[in-house]
Amino acid sequence: MIRDKVVIITGASSGIGEATAKLLAGEGAKVVLGARRIDKLQQIADEIRDNGGDAIYRELDVTRQSANDDIVKVAQDTFGRVDVVFLNAGLMPNSPLSALKIDDWHQMVDVNVKGILNGVAAALPAFLKQKSGQVIATSSVAGLKAYPGGAVYGGTKWFVRDFMEVLRMESAAEGTNIRTATIYPAAINTELLQTISRRETLEHMRGVYDKYGIAPERIASAVAFAIDQPDDTTVNEMTIGPANQPW
Ligand code: NDP
Repeated sequence: MIRDKVVIITGASSGIGEATAKLLAGEGAKVVLGARRIDKLQQIADEIRDNGGDAIYRELDVTRQSANDDIVKVAQDTFGRVDVVFLNAGLMPNSPLSALKIDDWHQMVDVNVKGILNGVAAALPAFLKQKSGQVIATSSVAGLKAYPGGAVYGGTKWFVRDFMEVLRMESAAEGTNIRTATIYPAAINTELLQTISRRETLEHMRGVYDKYGIAPERIASAVAFAIDQPDDTTVNEMTIGPANQPW
């Protein structure tokens, strides 16, 4: 059930996170929005409240553990508990390795990998204590298949796949009732391509997205489906993309 669940969403200021926040709030969840652009978070939270939903927001840089801890505390202080964390913040500055965009490599590791670690480290104590909770993470089809230009991005998303699967296995073995779901989107029209700094790669990716891209609401529906299942049911992995994209 979604109604009254307290859901923290990272990367909620645009794209998949924004669409998911709006959909879940429309279904009666209490959403807690995190990202760095608080002006955007404020707009989204206002829109949700104007539509009768419950939303708060907090500035969050997922690379900082203290900021992740803080958003969990704000959710608990405001709504009394946390039921779901949707670890969705990410960026995709793709390029061939030979372009040596080393700063981009490190940024992807910091946000896409360490951001997930920080988010889980922040939420897990509460989940273990209450003996329930759900961790949902956004990987990518790049976490399932390699492609030129995506060595580091794919590596970070491959990490998410492995990490989430082990979290699922350990939670089941330990009887903590923590559910997991890993989402593998293909081409979804969001602000993600704006993170690509290499012009040739950007042009190539724009071509792919112009041809195939679908709306982020499609991913929001999948996240809602995973949350909506009964407490004894885990939707482990979902790959979602354009019907005509031969990825
Ligand atoms: P967007 O660029 O629209 O959204 C990315 C979100 O991540 C923004 O809200 C951004 O907010 C946030 N973010 C980036 N860096 C940080 C940070 N350091 N701390 C906190 N938040 C951060 O793209 P998408 O919605 O597409 O991306 C969401 C996820 O989906 C990502 O993990 C991406 O890798 C994944 N994905 C997307 C696909 C697509 O085709 N769009 C395909 C496969 C996976 P802010 O800048 O305000 O901090």
